[in-house]
Amino acid sequence: MHFSSGINRPPYEAYDAFLQITSGCSHRKCVFCSFYNDAKFRISPLEEVEEDIKEMASYPYKKYDRIYLQGADPFIASYDYLMKVADMIYKYLPNVKSIGGYARIDNIRNKSVSQLRTLAKRGFKNFYFGNESGDDFILKRMNKGYKAEDVIKNLRKLDEAGMPYIMNFLGGLGGHNYGDSHAVKSAEVINQLNPVMVYASELTLFPETPLSEDLNTGKFEEATEEERYQELSVLVENIKIPTVFKAEHVTLPVPIRGRLPEDRNKIQNTLNGLIDLAKSGKLDKFRENIFSL
Ligand code: SF4
Repeated sequence: MHFSSGINRPPYEAYDAFLQITSGCSHRKCVFCSFYNDAKFRISPLEEVEEDIKEMASYPYKKYDRIYLQGADPFIASYDYLMKVADMIYKYLPNVKSIGGYARIDNIRNKSVSQLRTLAKRGFKNFYFGNESGDDFILKRMNKGYKAEDVIKNLRKLDEAGMPYIMNFLGGLGGHNYGDSHAVKSAEVINQLNPVMVYASELTLFPETPLSEDLNTGKFEEATEEERYQELSVLVENIKIPTVFKAEHVTLPVPIRGRLPEDRNKIQNTLNGLIDLAKSGKLDKFRENIFSL
């Protein structure tokens, strides 16, 4: 298999088969990110992809029903390229029912609604969009490369095309004293869209990022543990569309999940418990003990 980085995937995709069609990240400029530094961005030649699919088909256990594409944003590949990849997947791995991966908001720009509709019918669905925030100040500060209006405009194309998707929220991204704006503005964006899931994790800085340098020089101050759970609580309070909310990640001390609006109180109770724990100082060392994401 041609993997240029380690396997990256959300927890719910653990039983998928992993296929690389792009290496690295097409953007690679987000100041908090240390992923994919080991690989230059590249779209894999189709011959290489076919070789990998054939290798997957040769494994004794090959009844994969989902392919999770590797790379930071494999959905950047063109419509024609993705359709050819789908043809090869279904030819050699007939049990596959869907294809997903991580994605950037600007990956949608090079596809029309009609092309997205065809891709959805061909099984492309439930990509995890790392929009992270709906707050333009944060998006610019973190160098995400798009604004909140771009998030809405592009993801609406997926809504129109009937392609289900997941929106990521990165807690603590605004730093100390900025949680309310991050949460409220992110909820405002989410409320104009129809994600099947909002998936939250928490900013945890590693030494090799520009943002960690800003932390060392005092240009960025991290959100406290209490602020992080308060921020998630404001987010959950302000999401008004029906969706699934999950915050099940190594960057959170307990898994949090539920359907909104039905489970809002249950989720808030869990978050209130975490706020109390943080106030008591019991979570002071929690983030220091996260060594990888
Ligand atoms: S956060 Fe995502 S888009 Fe930004 S540099 Fe990292 S992998 Fe690329």
